[in-house]
Amino acid sequence: MSDTVAGPLTAESIAGAAYIVAALLFILSLAGLSKHEKAKAGVIYGIAGMIIALAATIWLTLQDAWGTTHALTGLGLLVAAVLVGGAIGLWRARVVEMTGMPELIALLHSFVGLAAVLVGWNGHLEAPALTGALNDIHHAEVFIGVFIGAVTFTGSIVAFLKLSARMKSSPLMLPGKNAINLCALAAFVALTVWYVNDSQLWLLVVVTVLALGLGWHLVASIGGGDMPVVVSMLNSYSGWAAAAAGFLLNNDLLIITGALVGSSGAYLSYIMCKAMNRSFVSVIAGGFGIAAPTTADADHGEHREITAEATAEMLTNASTVVITPGYGMAVAQAQYPVAELAHQLRERGVDVRFGIHPVAGRLPGHMNVLLAEAKVPYDIVLEMDEINDDLDGTSVVLVIGANDTVNPAAAEDPGSPIAGMPVLRVWEADNVVVFKRSMAAGYAGVQNPLFFRDNSQMLFGDAKQRVEDILKAF
Ligand code: NDP
Repeated sequence: MSDTVAGPLTAESIAGAAYIVAALLFILSLAGLSKHEKAKAGVIYGIAGMIIALAATIWLTLQDAWGTTHALTGLGLLVAAVLVGGAIGLWRARVVEMTGMPELIALLHSFVGLAAVLVGWNGHLEAPALTGALNDIHHAEVFIGVFIGAVTFTGSIVAFLKLSARMKSSPLMLPGKNAINLCALAAFVALTVWYVNDSQLWLLVVVTVLALGLGWHLVASIGGGDMPVVVSMLNSYSGWAAAAAGFLLNNDLLIITGALVGSSGAYLSYIMCKAMNRSFVSVIAGGFGIAAPTTADADHGEHREITAEATAEMLTNASTVVITPGYGMAVAQAQYPVAELAHQLRERGVDVRFGIHPVAGRLPGHMNVLLAEAKVPYDIVLEMDEINDDLDGTSVVLVIGANDTVNPAAAEDPGSPIAGMPVLRVWEADNVVVFKRSMAAGYAGVQNPLFFRDNSQMLFGDAKQRVEDILKAF
């Protein structure tokens, strides 16, 4: 017989067990979301984990609240907050366009940051009666939580403004920008030590203002091409902000989920930096060490235009076709006619494949989601590295609403703002047809010399309409 004596079942221990189950479900959810085939199961695990976490939290509050008027007010506020937040969340999720997803996510990150700041401030104003080392730890948690939260808050707002084109996507190049960031960090460390020794309110005010400014400056200093990394980096910051709030609220689940979001976001940022040939450290440090671009807009000569009928004829005579979709395909919702085009060409014996750039569109995996939605078979959808060497010798490449991700300047012009970013080398194909509405630049605001190459032709107009015109011409 075991000697272990089981302790009494308390509300806290039951909620603690529920939190562990929820945390496990979140881990399973992340694992599921990393593969196409298991993504749906991943979402279901995530929803189940969230329901358990919410139920346990509400139940715990009810247990604490029973009989006391003070706690009943808290419960009322909790219910009101969940209802209002849930209603707004449901409404936004229903109406948001796929192309508006990144800015919505950036905005949601800003709320996590703001919540961490408020929890931190509450931790100061309603400080528990602690002494000695425990008191110092509490003060450090408050200060660090407020700092991370405030950086996340303004950083995410700038990302939202840039992604929704309410603010220019080019990097802000203040003189001595690296020194500004380093000084802000040094000031934060010094202020933390001061606050832990002497927790005065004005110190909290100073760190809040400092962190709000730093968050704004960090993200404003990062240029258009690097925004995908910034979005996943802010995702990571919001995770750490939530974990910091978890320590303050003594909530294990918040600590675990915060750490999961924080570390997975950091890892995703790292993978994206590798894919885009960017230094991880320099991007998370607000473009540290990145010099201002030197290339002025050059005169690239004349472009040529092609009609949908002529494109249809070119495709009928092709033996191999590669389609490289980009953000414009998402805007036009052209994935369905594009899938039909690929299907019809394959029926005619043409070898058709898709080449997907890791940051095409406005979300990691954006193009893969659209093509899967239009039922394009997975085996003809290849990553950039898998297809790049085959582009030389391909009869026709159809660039559907892509721009930065097929820009030869990234490979050939060291002064370009996107220099060094790996791109799909579509210009190596025999013929390139570019679907877009005008000669406007892409997200990074850089002109694309591809449009002026001898083997390139522009098919102007809405991508969906033009692809449908080609289908008609067949
Ligand atoms: P780009 O954003 O560079 O270019 C898209 C092109 O699509 C534009 O030049 C536009 O030209 C064209 N377009 C827009 N609407 C339509 C339409 N209805 N029909 C036809 N064409 C249209 O796209 P890419 O996908 O090549 O590159 C993605 C960019 O976004 C990169 O710079 C990347 O760094 C950045 N980014 C990516 C994120 C990610 O996680 N994937 C997140 C944030 C940013 P026109 O107006 O002339 O039609």
